[in-house]
Amino acid sequence: MRVTVLGTGTARPVADTGASGILIQSDRTAVLFDIGSGIASRLERTVGAAGLDGLVVGHMHADHWIDIAPLRYRFPWGELSPRPLPVHLPPGGKEKLDHLAAVISERHGFFEVAFDVREYATGDTIRIGDLVIRPHPVGHYVPAWSMDITGPGGERIVYAGDMGPSDELVELARGAELLILEATLDTSRYDDAKRGHLTAEEAVDHVIRSGVPRGILVHYPSERRDAIRDICAPTNGLVMPAVTGTVLEIRRRAVPALSAAPALAEAGTSLPQETVSRG
Ligand SMILES: [Zn+2]
Ligand SMILES: [Zn+2]
Repeated sequence: MRVTVLGTGTARPVADTGASGILIQSDRTAVLFDIGSGIASRLERTVGAAGLDGLVVGHMHADHWIDIAPLRYRFPWGELSPRPLPVHLPPGGKEKLDHLAAVISERHGFFEVAFDVREYATGDTIRIGDLVIRPHPVGHYVPAWSMDITGPGGERIVYAGDMGPSDELVELARGAELLILEATLDTSRYDDAKRGHLTAEEAVDHVIRSGVPRGILVHYPSERRDAIRDICAPTNGLVMPAVTGTVLEIRRRAVPALSAAPALAEAGTSLPQETVSRG
């Protein structure tokens, strides 16, 4: 899979990047994860709206979905789209989309002309082209989901979106090729008691504990990029702050050959502990 970072910003507008948006592509599928402010324009420098096979939104804060409005204006006015874009929203998302159409002075059903809007739930499996996406809940100020994305070769990316510290996320990311985390805070001191964001130090710690070979940090204030680089430096490249335009090619890590269980190794299924210790 190819990952293109379309935005690394937080909710506050800055000059050098949009808010949240991660484009993930296989050879024949392109899915956008989150569409915060500035992302719809940035998308046009890559596959463009018409090149997308799906949009998945992790939670309904503006910096993760507000550019769904300009995205809609990329599709024809007044006529049915030949292939409505599958749009996967969290529970309650359809009603919020209706409200959004009303407050931007558009008619009822404005988005549905161009989008095939669906709501996912925890435990669902979303299939878009040859990508398989599983939403997992994370702790945030509003209901929010991380996305476990598996490509056609079995390679996995976990994109967490906004979240507070989470041991569950560390476990979820185990075995993945890439973990994409937010690094919003410079200190956890002023966060809510029920945590809703990570510091860069916490994000680095999550990557290290998950055992993934690579982590990138997004959703951080641009003026903290150098400080975040310094925080990541001791990991020797394991974790780095992404910038807008960062592209990563993600391939499945080679599974050690185990002649006793070739089918398991091929399928990428984690081997039972006893098999490993005997080998
Ligand atoms: Zn949020
Ligand atoms: Zn956010």
